[in-house]
Amino acid sequence: MRNWFSRRKVDAVTTHLTEPYVNAYMRANIWHVAGRDADLLIDTGMGICALAPEIPTPRGKPLIVVATHIHLDHVGSLHEFAYRAGPACSAAEFARMSDGATYAHMFRAMADAVSELPKPGWSAADYAIRPAPLNRTLSEGDVVDLGKRQFKVLHLPGHSPDSIALFDEADGTLFSGDAVYDDTLIDDLPDSDRAAYRHTMQRLLDLPIRIGHGGHGPSFSRDRMREIAANYLKDTADL
Ligand SMILES: [Zn+2]
Repeated sequence: MRNWFSRRKVDAVTTHLTEPYVNAYMRANIWHVAGRDADLLIDTGMGICALAPEIPTPRGKPLIVVATHIHLDHVGSLHEFAYRAGPACSAAEFARMSDGATYAHMFRAMADAVSELPKPGWSAADYAIRPAPLNRTLSEGDVVDLGKRQFKVLHLPGHSPDSIALFDEADGTLFSGDAVYDDTLIDDLPDSDRAAYRHTMQRLLDLPIRIGHGGHGPSFSRDRMREIAANYLKDTADL
């Protein structure tokens, strides 16, 4: 295994990482944004291999790590980082990382969990997520400040009750986690709520983004996001 993570520069300050050998259903996006006074990491993957060594940490510059929600594929390596922020409504669970909150048991049960072993003898059956208590909780309207660039927190439940997104209103960049992404949306987990998801989609129809970077799949334009939201509202209209 040369490198567990793949890495791609998205723009001058944004880098995309992911775990190509993780089953596509669980393979999530990790976003790194370099700021003036602080850097930002959005989501931390599965925690199968150490993520922290992959992330540049310039001396004296804080790295703010935000979990968009507590599902396994977004919080696995959160414990490796010192400054951990996440949704206020699931904050207590971050100190436990129980299967009931993360769904880690779904990965343990997968026959084809990975396409390459991270190391010899590795087994998905041993997969566990280390607790990562939050230092900061995030609610609707809170601001994550990188210096010269601010991200507003949006609470967008539906996929999960605790789904949050980060929106740079000045330049239109949305980091949306699993609230919206350009792939099959998951709304049938035990903690999913379709009525709440419909409300989130209605809200997204009017959100003036320039580009969206989701928790899964490729990045998307405002038009594409509106199409995804409209399709969801159409498909769930009988609710
Ligand atoms: Zn999720």
